[in-house]
Amino acid sequence: MKLTDIHRVPYGSQNITFALEYSPRKTLAIEIHPDSSIIVKAPIDATIESIEAKIVRRATWIARQQRQFAKYAPPLPAPECISGEGYRYLGRQYRLKLIASQIDKILLWQGRLEVNTPTPFDRDKVEKSIANWFRGRATIVFDERYHYCTQLVSPHDIQGNKFELRTMSKCWGSCTPKGKIFLHPLLIGAPKDCIDYVIIHELCHLQFPNHSTSFYQLLESILPDWHQRKDRLNSQVELRK
Ligand SMILES: [Zn+2]
Repeated sequence: MKLTDIHRVPYGSQNITFALEYSPRKTLAIEIHPDSSIIVKAPIDATIESIEAKIVRRATWIARQQRQFAKYAPPLPAPECISGEGYRYLGRQYRLKLIASQIDKILLWQGRLEVNTPTPFDRDKVEKSIANWFRGRATIVFDERYHYCTQLVSPHDIQGNKFELRTMSKCWGSCTPKGKIFLHPLLIGAPKDCIDYVIIHELCHLQFPNHSTSFYQLLESILPDWHQRKDRLNSQVELRK
């Protein structure tokens, strides 16, 4: 017959709680189970003091075993929502909502960025899928805005080539001497009129590669309110790599 009893032994500022089983055996054994529970199997004649002393001596090992199990623990059901994380899309703020699901799917819905994923606790993977999703949206939206902006600048004899997404540390947009335009994918957080401002600014560089007076005259003639758009852009989205 096994006698199981629950015990607690103080260790540091905490207690180590363990189930104690006496049985006809010669040595004491400590087992850590996947749910972090501790089972101590002791010889029938072992004193509680000697058992507790042994547990305290093995405390570091016990904690390590428990951490190992925690690492490989099956995923818990996902929380309804991890609050505090905001994502900006076209000038509006969305809260992240993680949903455990068999399929991978991301959508913007009622002020939330809904991430359906089989691995809601894998933060790296979730972050990567979100970044990919935003990149995909950036490609579609910037394509539409680029088309619109090239029409605005065409009366000024400016013809835009294709653009590419590029994560830059200091600018939302840039253009090469050969006329290729790069747009920062995080610009998707800004309202459309701010995205247009960045695109038109870069398109104007196709005619004036510097920030000369002629450049600003051209920019002003196409977008008289470019100053306000620029201020709004800087107040809404933060440039980062
Ligand atoms: Zn410039």
